[in-house]
Amino acid sequence: MAEMRWDSLAEQALVGEQLSLEQALEVLAAPDEELIDLLAAAFRVRRHHFGKRVRLNFLVNAKSGHCGEDCGYCSQSRVSTAEIPRHQLLAKDELVEAAERALELKASTCCIVTSARKPSARELHGVAEAAEEIKQRHPELKLCACLGEIDAEQARSLRESGIDRYNHNLNTAASHYPEVCTTHTHADRARTVETVAKAGLSPCSGLIVGLGETREQLVEACFALRDSGTDSIPVNFLLPIEGTPLGSHDPGLDPRYCLKALCMFRLACPEREIRLAAGREVHLGSLQPLALYPANSIFVSDYLTEPGQAPEDDYRMIEELGFEIEPAGS
Ligand code: SF4
Repeated sequence: MAEMRWDSLAEQALVGEQLSLEQALEVLAAPDEELIDLLAAAFRVRRHHFGKRVRLNFLVNAKSGHCGEDCGYCSQSRVSTAEIPRHQLLAKDELVEAAERALELKASTCCIVTSARKPSARELHGVAEAAEEIKQRHPELKLCACLGEIDAEQARSLRESGIDRYNHNLNTAASHYPEVCTTHTHADRARTVETVAKAGLSPCSGLIVGLGETREQLVEACFALRDSGTDSIPVNFLLPIEGTPLGSHDPGLDPRYCLKALCMFRLACPEREIRLAAGREVHLGSLQPLALYPANSIFVSDYLTEPGQAPEDDYRMIEELGFEIEPAGS
């Protein structure tokens, strides 16, 4: 019985037993006719840990373009010719304003993102100063910084300024990483995730599905994220951007596979925040609302250089599902 087969994985997740490699592959290969049973199993686990709440996150493109790295999917890399906004770090007032916009949009977390492999001393200081000001005015708003590779000292200074969380995506499996980027390694990225966790920041690290990885490599990436102890896992689905090396790459995704991938993440990482991230509108299409059965978090409004759906559509989707937005500070 399909229903019992997937429900036993929910049972296993709820008693703290890890999803095995074989089970994860079975989830990814689930027959489409069993998708509803699989979603029900993933939702059982999501409901146990997060109820019907949906966490909203707001992205601030605090410094855009000018990156010296060559990540194949990224419009801000040195090899990209995509037309994107390019600007140096926003001023403190602009970052404070952006945080206020996050609250207006009902987000409980504001993610301050800069492009580059590592932040300069000036950028780190600028973000820390803005974080202090934002926290003074809006202590209920959670702040996440995504500034590239940082060391222990930098992580400590961000934590002291009021930054709660640090995002640094592993992006794909270690075995697939050289196909996606040659200027730094998967191990470089994993080191930063470890460093921020040790410094007492909440680690956030996710990936992009559809980079040409095999199913085995998607499981490898999922398990690496699980084992890294990350609290929050943004799951992006590749949006090929014209002018990037992956601009004409076919991510080979369909909405049902995207849902199965999200279910695998929920069953493998039961108590972590699983965030439905970029590409959800394009790749999930009309099945998008179903993704909130495994996932408990989304980005509201636009992505860094790509538009997202209107916030009102997200609010309506959440309401129509009978779910609720998690208030800031809860
Ligand atoms: S390091 Fe970040 S900003 Fe730079 S190319 Fe890679 S993903 Fe883009």
